[in-house]
Amino acid sequence: MGKIIMKEILEIRINYEFATLLFNKEEGKNIGTSVKVIELLKEDPRYNKVPIIDQEIRSKYDRAFFFGWNIKRKYSTKELDASILLQLKIKTTFEPSGEDCGTLYDETETCKICGVNRKQIGPLLLSKKSIPKKDIARTIAGEIVVSNKFKNLFEKNNLKGMEFKQVYSKETPINFFQIIPTSPELQITQNTITGIDPFDLSETSDGEIYKCPNGHTLGLNLISEIYVKKIAYLNNFDFFQTEQKIGVKRGLLRPEPLYLCSKKMREIIVGDNLKGFDFEVTHLE
Ligand SMILES: [Zn+2]
Repeated sequence: MGKIIMKEILEIRINYEFATLLFNKEEGKNIGTSVKVIELLKEDPRYNKVPIIDQEIRSKYDRAFFFGWNIKRKYSTKELDASILLQLKIKTTFEPSGEDCGTLYDETETCKICGVNRKQIGPLLLSKKSIPKKDIARTIAGEIVVSNKFKNLFEKNNLKGMEFKQVYSKETPINFFQIIPTSPELQITQNTITGIDPFDLSETSDGEIYKCPNGHTLGLNLISEIYVKKIAYLNNFDFFQTEQKIGVKRGLLRPEPLYLCSKKMREIIVGDNLKGFDFEVTHLE
């Protein structure tokens, strides 16, 4: 690819009380009286001051300068169109999870450290009324469902790399399908950055281990775009998951793989205006 024109924006929820230490009063959007949401370009000279001020406030008052954050990448249409592999991001998360609705899991072979490798037994059970009206959505435990429309388009266009399993709500089949990847898993490479947040790339915190010594997980959150190892059979599939996972076992939460799709699959999703998807450029190495 040629010149990079993607803009990286950090959307950060600043503690309102300390916001004026770095931002103008008029800047950002206030949420109630405790949070100010600021969009900060990575090139903004204040970007690197965020962790410094956070550190100061922590040592002085035992408080935080910011709470949540989200990295947005804005691409030109050209950049996205030229990318042969893209991260497929699922925008909507819902609960209750499958486990809460009676879906059975076998945990006998799960990793004792990070909790990956639990096996779903039988169909995915969910509560129909809680499933968002999107063409794709995920539960807080990482189970992914798609609409009938998505399934039909995937099959009609002869896309490859996933199969569809009927989802049930109280024993009744519903108009949603769980997707199961059937393609080889892709390897995330070292250029991919993970961490607790953009300013703290720690691999452990409060007794939790985010980088499993068994190689299952890489970190708590994805910070950068994804870099994956190039493989010969890439063109044979339109959908992939990564071998390594991101996240932590915490209550119902489990580490999850990242999902990727082909240029063709993105064109179909965008062309048919399917809802619930976002895409980022993925790099092949
Ligand atoms: Zn593990």
